[in-house]
Amino acid sequence: MSVNQKYIVILGAAESGVGAAILAQKLGFDVFVSDNGSIKDVYIEDLQHYSIPFEENHHNIDRILSADEIIISPGIPLTIPLIQQAKENGIGVISEIEFAFRYTDAHIIAITGSNGKTTTATLTYELLKNGGLDVALAGNIGDSFARKLALERHDYYVLEISSFQLDSMFDFRADTTVILNITPDHLDRYQYDFNLYSLSKMRIIQKLTNTDNLIYNFDDEVISDFINTHKTKAKLFPFTQTKELENNGAFIKDNKIYFQINTERFNMDIEKLALQGRHNAYNTMAGGIAAKLQGIRKESLKKCLSDFQGVSHRLEKVNTVRGVSFINDSKATNVNSAWYALESMTKPVVWIVGGQDKGNDYSDLIPLAEEKVKAIVCLGIDNSKIIEAFSPVVSNIIETDTAHDAVLSSFYLAEPGDVVLLSPACASFDLFESYEDRGNRFTRAVQDL
Ligand code: ADP
Repeated sequence: MSVNQKYIVILGAAESGVGAAILAQKLGFDVFVSDNGSIKDVYIEDLQHYSIPFEENHHNIDRILSADEIIISPGIPLTIPLIQQAKENGIGVISEIEFAFRYTDAHIIAITGSNGKTTTATLTYELLKNGGLDVALAGNIGDSFARKLALERHDYYVLEISSFQLDSMFDFRADTTVILNITPDHLDRYQYDFNLYSLSKMRIIQKLTNTDNLIYNFDDEVISDFINTHKTKAKLFPFTQTKELENNGAFIKDNKIYFQINTERFNMDIEKLALQGRHNAYNTMAGGIAAKLQGIRKESLKKCLSDFQGVSHRLEKVNTVRGVSFINDSKATNVNSAWYALESMTKPVVWIVGGQDKGNDYSDLIPLAEEKVKAIVCLGIDNSKIIEAFSPVVSNIIETDTAHDAVLSSFYLAEPGDVVLLSPACASFDLFESYEDRGNRFTRAVQDL
């Protein structure tokens, strides 16, 4: 290490950490990557390819605490002793997005929320791309922002940003920010305190200036209250399903979405949208405003909104077998996303639910379960909270611990005309590698019926 050279330590070697390491290396910093678990082969290959020093299955404390700055991966809690020690020693601890942000002048569209981030970020990216802009999609989806910046150059970046990234963001500001909703999720990382989680999400607006745009869900009380009480300089673009707006934003009236963006006004029939469901109407309004603010023409925008096919594992129709339709909503990893899934069901439901609990409160789901669910198939190791919550309203509840058994049992319980909905309201890590793994196994089991 040379004397005046900034020394950066990166904790965690998955997509975010390795992306940060590649960017830091390219910028000429001294870099060291440390992961106290084992690193996946693809990431080891990346680190070796760029000659980045690293360690795995261990943290070399001295080497880490001599850093000028630490970049922490979103999977690592800020409460671990190593990070506490680093902070006491005066070492800055930042997220990969914060780090990458310092090294670009590109337009940034940042999207956060408890649910709908991937759908809205992908939709916004498609709207910009189809509108002819040079745009990349990054962040919590696909490549990390840092990796994208290190390896490619684009005029626009659509970033999906999670609360774990936001916890270590300080100077970051996007030209256009979208906040979709704030509902309980990941409370295990926020001392089971919803307020702390909400504050983390709202960090996304902390540095906005009067040239920036803030697109937000007007119907979400947590967001609206925060914006009313913490004056932001940003230009506001609310979207709502409960009110007719006079000024900037988007709203719904007579089954049409009305967009009002600065001097431009136009509307679109909801039934022409490819993405259906109330939650997707929110996502469409948010993505549509974001795209319009980047100058996308309304004809291009409308065409893309009616063509966009959605993202896998989000209310995805898998197949219909002997009159029973199967829907994969494996990405519903919290109560609110499962609420929207159940709410959008129009046929009797056999509901596959369960997994790793994140401090869930199921009470909001009980009226919907009573109205729509004929049987529950639990798919998790510990299903006790689910059984306790729903047994007063759903008499038929069984437990399974593989996707295959869950599909077979559901098929047995369903009749022609019913729908089998995998919308677990829980994380997947008790039985599966990821929500994708859970959704893929479900899909395969359905295809094998
Ligand atoms: P995220 O990236 O925030 O997890 P996704 O787009 O991957 O969001 O969707 C996650 C889950 O939430 C899916 O089950 C999806 O159907 C549901 N969902 C999508 N948009 C919304 C929304 N605006 N409000 C509530 N649930 C939503």
